[in-house]
Amino acid sequence: MTESGFRVAVIGAGASGIATGIALMRAGIEDFAILEKASDLGGTWRDNSYPGLSCDVPSHLYRFSFAPNPDWTSHYSPGAEIQAYVRKVARDFDVERYIRYDSEVTRAVFEKGRWRLSGAQGELGLFDAVISATGVLHHPVYPDIAGLDRFAGSCFHSSRWDHGADLRGARVGIIGTGSTAIQILPAIVDEVAHVSLFQRTAQWIFDLPNPEIPEEKRARFRDHPEEMDALYAHLAARFNATFAAAVVGENQAALAEVTQACKDNLANNVHDPDLRARLTPDYRVGCKRLIVSDRFYPAIQKPNAALVDTAIDRIEPGGVRTVDGILHPLDVLVCATGFDPHAFVRPMTVIGRDGLSLERAWAEGNEAYRSVAIPDFPNFFLLGGPNSPIGNFSFLMTIETQLAYVMQLLELLRQGRAREVAPSHAATRAFNAELKASMSGTVWVTGCRSWYIDRNGNVASWPWTFERFQADLERPVLADFDMR
Ligand code: NAP
Repeated sequence: MTESGFRVAVIGAGASGIATGIALMRAGIEDFAILEKASDLGGTWRDNSYPGLSCDVPSHLYRFSFAPNPDWTSHYSPGAEIQAYVRKVARDFDVERYIRYDSEVTRAVFEKGRWRLSGAQGELGLFDAVISATGVLHHPVYPDIAGLDRFAGSCFHSSRWDHGADLRGARVGIIGTGSTAIQILPAIVDEVAHVSLFQRTAQWIFDLPNPEIPEEKRARFRDHPEEMDALYAHLAARFNATFAAAVVGENQAALAEVTQACKDNLANNVHDPDLRARLTPDYRVGCKRLIVSDRFYPAIQKPNAALVDTAIDRIEPGGVRTVDGILHPLDVLVCATGFDPHAFVRPMTVIGRDGLSLERAWAEGNEAYRSVAIPDFPNFFLLGGPNSPIGNFSFLMTIETQLAYVMQLLELLRQGRAREVAPSHAATRAFNAELKASMSGTVWVTGCRSWYIDRNGNVASWPWTFERFQADLERPVLADFDMR
């Protein structure tokens, strides 16, 4: 132990790492470092800067409870505004001084009761506890299509947007129809000569306008913060009772309502029957993460936009060739092909008790206890870990709940009530057995391909209500932990 007695490493300076730093400071823990691999903070909001980027969770719900923001300019915030918010929170709470930039952790080893962290530059230090705040949608996935590396124009992943690529008058291709692609296309369609959207799977789209929040309203929130709190509580309650409950099978009426709204959106807003048929999914609403947009259908019907739903055969220097032999000539190719949400802390090597690697512990699937801790990996905690509520949720609400829980476990360590805390195998097994059994009641397993499902067929999200998540993580059940 250090002079201060207790030393914590936080991995990642995204929104969750910043919130962790603030929680540590508030708990009086000053001896900590936030280790960030990049040279700036913000995580997903730093990495993503594509045209049209916004968050489809209401602005006043997508914020830290301890840092309400009266200044959101629209109901669903643009990405740059969220990045500015995260930066401001870090500055306002004076947490930036704990961030060590350009410090990627590549290895964490539990040795004699402490975690030894190291990276490319060598040793990063010894810590009593580690909180992994490495995000969920972080590792870009490029499509496994022959010839991708032979494309002659500009080709990049949506989360690595090449702002040097001139889109004006260009022929642009977008691979993918997830939330990202559906935001990019309307944002660029008026600027480019032509845009082709390469669709492998059609998506259900919920029609939601994004009105501005007028300055008078923002001024009112500044003067009456209690009204913001009331709005947050209202949004959270409504969301939890409707959509969040619907996808886990706890509110069939709400699911039916969202389903009808998506069907109506398609029927009312896509005029050509052939295009409408090609945009009609063959799986249930909510099975894949729901897309929210009032801009996509108008944009894909513009004369310079084309939906290409014939499968891609290969990529050639001049464009994308589909299996019908047609070459779609392109100057710019955007891979809006998503992320690997099942990596968690990997590719970091993590070695717990008795030399057990996380790779081995998770060989048959990622399993955590209540999403935050892993047997045999003492004093190592996860934010956004396996089976966190993810999808159409406010991730900030999720991590705040997990963080409050983790802080209670840290307190046990700090008070010396235990030197090592890890969930027991029995409790973790029982939790995961219940979790897997409960997945059958969710809409995610009703027959679609989605990033929620890993290569072992396990669903990555939380199969119960958000209220249950909050209840389960309110207080640690100490009997479930192996404390030494
Ligand atoms: P995604 O939802 O995983 O979508 C990836 C798309 O790429 C899918 O349409 C997929 O097709 C397609 N694809 C992948 N490999 C392909 C291949 N080899 N050939 C053809 N198509 C291929 O990724 P995303 O759109 O980046 O979104 C990821 C998540 O980020 C979202 O679900 C959401 O949680 C988050 N996000 C949130 C917001 C927000 O507003 N809050 C905005 C953007 C992103 P298939 O469907 O057939 O697999």
